[in-house]
Amino acid sequence: MFKGFSRFLQRPGERLKTLFGAESAQASENTRPTRRVLPRDEHDVSRRDLSENALKVLYRLNNAGYDAYLVGGCIRDSLLGNRPKDFDVATAATPDEVRQLFRNSRIIGRRFRIVHVRFGREVIEVTTFRGRHGEEDGGNHSQQSDEGLLLRDNVWGSVEEDAIRRDFTVNALYYSVSDFSIHDWTGGLQDLDDRILRLIGDPETRYREDPVRMLRAARFAAKLDFSLAAETEAPIRELAPLLLQIPPARLFEEVLKLFLSGHAVQSFRVLRELGLFAMLFPESDEALQALPWAEALVEQALANTDTRLAEDRPVTPAFLFAALLWPCVTQRTAQVAHEQDLPEVPAQQAAAQQVISRQLQHTSIPKRFSMPMRDIWELQQQLPRRRGRRVFQTLEHPRFRAAYDFLLLREEAGELTPGLGQWWTRFQDADESEQHQLMAEVDGGHPAGNSGKPRRRRPRKRRRNPNRSTPPTLDE
Ligand code: ATP
Ligand code: MG
Repeated sequence: MFKGFSRFLQRPGERLKTLFGAESAQASENTRPTRRVLPRDEHDVSRRDLSENALKVLYRLNNAGYDAYLVGGCIRDSLLGNRPKDFDVATAATPDEVRQLFRNSRIIGRRFRIVHVRFGREVIEVTTFRGRHGEEDGGNHSQQSDEGLLLRDNVWGSVEEDAIRRDFTVNALYYSVSDFSIHDWTGGLQDLDDRILRLIGDPETRYREDPVRMLRAARFAAKLDFSLAAETEAPIRELAPLLLQIPPARLFEEVLKLFLSGHAVQSFRVLRELGLFAMLFPESDEALQALPWAEALVEQALANTDTRLAEDRPVTPAFLFAALLWPCVTQRTAQVAHEQDLPEVPAQQAAAQQVISRQLQHTSIPKRFSMPMRDIWELQQQLPRRRGRRVFQTLEHPRFRAAYDFLLLREEAGELTPGLGQWWTRFQDADESEQHQLMAEVDGGHPAGNSGKPRRRRPRKRRRNPNRSTPPTLDE
């Protein structure tokens, strides 16, 4: 597993001492970090494992006289022997200077200006070295709220200043294409060796600057199977509510990274453990505690997502959100049906609406995902109805497959007694005569019948004439 780092691992302590001298650096904003250089023959990150396009960007920047490195997840993951997801470049060139060097580039972001250099489908993210913010520029390029939240961070600096502005030590390793060495300013190599995720600088200050770093801590701990350094973990539970200040659109993106990158189950566990899940999905968090099957349902949905990704099969945020919010929908449906005396279908529609609008205060859910999510929920009420033409309408619904998978999930989690799922499994593959036989089974009241629930019609309440104050008499 530790392909890139293996040589380093064989003699970790020794190697570190002889190569770099003293103890592991703990850079803080007040101390000038010392650089440690891992020469090419001391690591296994080969140019063959790196993106050709990212290397092109480095060479062109270097040739134009700008210092430039590969940095972040790509170097961390390469050292761990994993295939990097994307490639990030840090450089001394300003966004405008980068823009001028690459025709295929554009500047994005306001809060954090960066340049995207596009090569077909691959995008290389080029970031100018960040410096210390706040002091010299009178707030023109950086801006912080009274609570310490970094509203803008566009002050340029040197590579060592850039290193200590990054989040975790293992994310602050710089690969140079001039001699293929790796530069470490914050003790990241040692932490990588020890499998520790450590926030750079004073944790509380860094979380206040950007509370999303708490989510990133959970995500990387889950993805890399690293432990959090004690001082990195300590403030999280108390500071978790700072996430409520983050725009829902940004949190939506983070949720996708947490749950659609192949480590969803572990991310979910770490998030709950750290008290962060409740800041993203407050209502689900409550429902998870109230409903005995809810945790199994969410975990199973996440496990299926991880499996699908491992098999290179598609996954959709619609299904993910459908599962994460389903426990709230069922809870609210019962409540609405009771309070407003509504039948189940409109009660669930109203409940779904409420659940979505509350969730939107925390994470956005773009319409292209919330619409199919609602379909998946609504079809849960159609799936038990297997008489007449309706059954074929359900089968032909564009969201049938997702809804059927969702039904299996509910049965597996113990929300429903198994039976209905199997009926649909058979029905999908059946020929016409078998289909009619299966439908007849339903009419005959076979066990496959009603998702384990007896079919029950609510007696309709007679509406009272609202203009009348006396109770209706029997002969009315
Ligand atoms: P991956 O791409 O595998 O999810 P990554 O570490 O590359 O992981 P990115 O979001 O691509 O993560 O960010 C690239 C780098 O930018 C990080 O490694 C880190 O050095 C820095 N970075 C990203 N977000 C933050 C942040 N909120 N605060 C400080 N530094 C950050
Ligand atoms: Mg990255």
